Amino acid sequence: MAGWIAGLKTGWPMLAAAPFVGSFLATVAFRLPRGEPLALGRSRCPACGTALGPVDLLPLFGWVLRRGHCNSCRAPIDPAYPLIEAGALAVAAWAAVAGLPGWQPIAACALGWALLALAAIDHRHYLLPDTLTLPLIPAGLLAAGAMPVWPVGLVDAAVGTVAGFAAIWGVGWLYRRLRGRDGIGLGDAKLLAAAGAWVGWQGLASVVMISALAGIAAALVTAIRRGQRLDPAARLPFGVFLALGTWLVVLYGPVDFRTMAF
Ligand SMILES: [Zn+2]
Repeated sequence: MAGWIAGLKTGWPMLAAAPFVGSFLATVAFRLPRGEPLALGRSRCPACGTALGPVDLLPLFGWVLRRGHCNSCRAPIDPAYPLIEAGALAVAAWAAVAGLPGWQPIAACALGWALLALAAIDHRHYLLPDTLTLPLIPAGLLAAGAMPVWPVGLVDAAVGTVAGFAAIWGVGWLYRRLRGRDGIGLGDAKLLAAAGAWVGWQGLASVVMISALAGIAAALVTAIRRGQRLDPAARLPFGVFLALGTWLVVLYGPVDFRTMAF
């Protein structure tokens, strides 16, 4: 049986749940940086305070049916809601068809959803909340220790956690010494520590390489679109790219640096 069919057989509950999980992730992404409680979902229009009905709260379709505007006051609905909901669906589908054996698609999907929320928050707030990064460390170690045929052993995952944190912390320390200001946050170090727990120390170099290349590409595209020169001091939500790198290495394994392919 083709790997992706098997993946769909295991992963269909994740696909079915994805739009609702996405709706929750969007709420998390909006509320966590403001320190607001997560238990209650989106309940009122932030512009006019009208209570939202079932149609408004329908993942993806709510935004389409309301044409992107509040039904009462016509204020635009933040497009981050449908984007994160669509992203959660894409993560579930990608995890299902990536050809991972056994229960791995489920574990990968859960990680992918957390990475999606982190990327969304870092993109908007330049922030990677501990509430999201730190639990990914024991989760990765658990996957390494308990999941059958998981490609990373528990010791490799533990070494990866420490090495991931040390690598970014070291770069940040060096940057501070050389430039006299903070360039890389501890949030990035905690996220790479979590990445190390999931991909092992063997996958860390791949995560860093993919993140760095994607970050440089994004900075170039942004500079070109704005018609400016590339500014090395410009702030970059590096967590977005770390999340992408982690995701790709979890799905496809470390990059073979001789062929530069997975
Ligand atoms: Zn409104």
